[in-house]
Amino acid sequence: MSLTRTSTDMPVANVLIGGVVLPTEYMPVRNPARTEEVVGHCALGTPGMVHEAIRHAEAAAANWRELGYTQRAQLLRAAYPRLQETLADRANLLTREQGKVLWESVADARGPETIIEYFAGLIDDGYGRDERTDERGRVIVRRVPRGVTAVIVPWNYPIYLACQHLIPALITGNTVVVKPSEYAPLALSHTLAILAEALPKGVLNVVPGEGHVAGRALIESDGVKNVLFTGSVPVGQEILRANAETVRAASLELGGNDPALVLRDAVFDESTMHEMVRGVFTCAGQICFNIKRIYVPRTRMAEFLEMFIAAADTIAVGDGLDARSTMGPLNNANQASRVRRLLDAAREAGATVQAVGSQLNPDSWERGYFMLPHVVSDIDHDHPLVQTEQFGPVVPVLPYDSLDEGIAMANGTEYGLAASVWTADPEAGLQVGERLEAGSVFINTHRLGASDMTMPFGGMKKSGLGRTHTTMILDECTEAQALSFRSDVSAFPGPALAEQAR
Ligand code: NAD
Repeated sequence: MSLTRTSTDMPVANVLIGGVVLPTEYMPVRNPARTEEVVGHCALGTPGMVHEAIRHAEAAAANWRELGYTQRAQLLRAAYPRLQETLADRANLLTREQGKVLWESVADARGPETIIEYFAGLIDDGYGRDERTDERGRVIVRRVPRGVTAVIVPWNYPIYLACQHLIPALITGNTVVVKPSEYAPLALSHTLAILAEALPKGVLNVVPGEGHVAGRALIESDGVKNVLFTGSVPVGQEILRANAETVRAASLELGGNDPALVLRDAVFDESTMHEMVRGVFTCAGQICFNIKRIYVPRTRMAEFLEMFIAAADTIAVGDGLDARSTMGPLNNANQASRVRRLLDAAREAGATVQAVGSQLNPDSWERGYFMLPHVVSDIDHDHPLVQTEQFGPVVPVLPYDSLDEGIAMANGTEYGLAASVWTADPEAGLQVGERLEAGSVFINTHRLGASDMTMPFGGMKKSGLGRTHTTMILDECTEAQALSFRSDVSAFPGPALAEQAR
């Protein structure tokens, strides 16, 4: 269902091009805790609008890249008062459209300031510049912005994930078109409108809409010179196919199927179990680097299951705005039915499937995409619940016999985003970590906060290409240019060299 007009007092994720809102058709955005409730409307950006946004971004590029890093950071900082005034509204709206509990939405909505401050402090106007003069002359190497950049965003942590690409792209002098996810576009679009207001017109443009329409138009355009994408593996692959045509850079933060490898000496106490439960079930399991598989020494399996299940049983599932909820609903119908199908397949294959936790409002359970946490054991390693990314509150726990086998199982999927090692001996854990195929390995933790902007973040294998955080993402937003003025280029003297082969 789409509308051509929106009701006036509801939040709208608008098409914003060159500082101007363009009217179009809209689709309703529903509350995943009560699907009859329309929270707001999402503009259905058209390919024409995408091209218009790229045109404005191109027009704004020359002046924007002339500013220094410090000046661009200062302009971004000018958005802080509005961001702070609207924090509560944006966080509440995010929970109503996304489903997650309120503290997670606050953490997500505070993303812009945290990320701007980090990058503003990380670099100065000399970033990436190297000059040298020697007996042969002068060489300057500098980093230049790639040009119009597409930032394509998923629905699980929309504000933080958009900003972890958007801010480095802007601060290094690129102009940007952002494509929010149609499943959680409202709080992000509100945030982007505040940031855009602080910047020269056309530097930051937003085209919400469907992935296969607005998203595809963006990735297929020659006008886009860099794609910073966070989302699923299949869409990442589509971007790479489009990039083969355009010969263009991309940074891809894709799906994860993270293992937690529990070593024989791991301490099983309340705090370890609490930490693991958070690592699995935060955001109802819908975080790229949640724990998605757990491997436990066979001799400790019964003990582990008992303690882990007891810890997970404290989870209370309900509306993310209800202060008693510790887990909200899944975000959308597709996601909920995918996770249910995986659970059904596990039951059919003879696995032991145990629902844990409690329903806060059983009477309204069916009105949202609610699901209790589930712990699955007695499941084969090649089952789809183990091999694919479930992205839901369901975790398989598998036994292993030797450390080598445990490591092989942890490495035994096509993903390689993050992993964790649980042990009483952190040094031994770090050594095991070196054998894991994952972009990040954590010891005795594995949840939001385990990675931060001082650590490169990204995936090995099908979990992605490139890294966010640190200066690595700045390098992905720019390319090197070498300028030289050399009087002596005699290293290639020309035809005389042939004498050496005669
Ligand atoms: P998705 O790939 O379905 O969608 C992501 C974005 O791409 C959305 O804005 C969508 O509209 C757009 N899109 C869809 N089809 C497109 C196309 N053909 N061309 C261009 N754009 C298109 O992912 P999702 O369901 O929103 O998010 C969940 C996935 O994201 C999970 O796999 C999760 O692991 C991954 N993720 C990864 C990270 C990370 O940092 N590695 C972080 C968060 C989420």
